[in-house]
Amino acid sequence: MTPPELDRKTALFLDFDGTLVEIAATPESVVVPPSLPSLLSHLHHQLEGAVAIVSGRPLRQIDRLLMPFRASAAGEHGVTVRFADGTLQELPVGIAVPDGWRLALGDAAERWPGVRIEPKPHGLTVHYRLAPERESEVWELARSLVPADHPWFRLIPAREAVEIGLRAASKGDAVERLMEHAPFHGRRPIFVGDDFTDEAGMSMARRFGGMGLRVAEVFGGDPANVRAWLTHGMERMDGLPSQSAPAGPAP
Ligand SMILES: [Mg+2]
Repeated sequence: MTPPELDRKTALFLDFDGTLVEIAATPESVVVPPSLPSLLSHLHHQLEGAVAIVSGRPLRQIDRLLMPFRASAAGEHGVTVRFADGTLQELPVGIAVPDGWRLALGDAAERWPGVRIEPKPHGLTVHYRLAPERESEVWELARSLVPADHPWFRLIPAREAVEIGLRAASKGDAVERLMEHAPFHGRRPIFVGDDFTDEAGMSMARRFGGMGLRVAEVFGGDPANVRAWLTHGMERMDGLPSQSAPAGPAP
């Protein structure tokens, strides 16, 4: 499948890790290509603000990594959504991973070299990218802590990681909430993602008449190809009339 052409009616929803940037050994060691923030800013301008980063990372990390680009965004798989006017919506407020779970996972991570715990404001992620042989033990422990019918939390499979996240939030929910407001409302959403949690975002984009693009299928699994597609779209739109320009004569 070839990716669609971007046009001035597009709304972009972009996952971060594994989509815009290569997956790194640890979340902190991710490398952001120097041209990425300005590429996003340019698209943001062309699409009248309809560009959102939809990530599992907390919002402040996304902002720091993409500085000075800052726009609509969803953090922690949709727990926090920032709208174009800067309004923050957090759902639900005040729920945190129980201390007992944190302690049990922290103890295990000490016993298992290479397994790392990444605390997040509303959840946490256990990474085993550096110790892939621990995958089944990590999952076993996580399942023993978080019952499948837990009212607030659920386990989210990620790439060489398992995340404890809020059940109420999803990337699909974040896309839906953003699509209800300007500048997304009425546009054709394109969601690009590489991971399990992105599927909900892709389904929601399709429900709004748009598309969901899997990095593995559409871009050969390579974030560099996603960036090249965005760059191509940006250059192409520079040659197109603006959406808000007066309509030309009918053909
Ligand atoms: Mg990803």
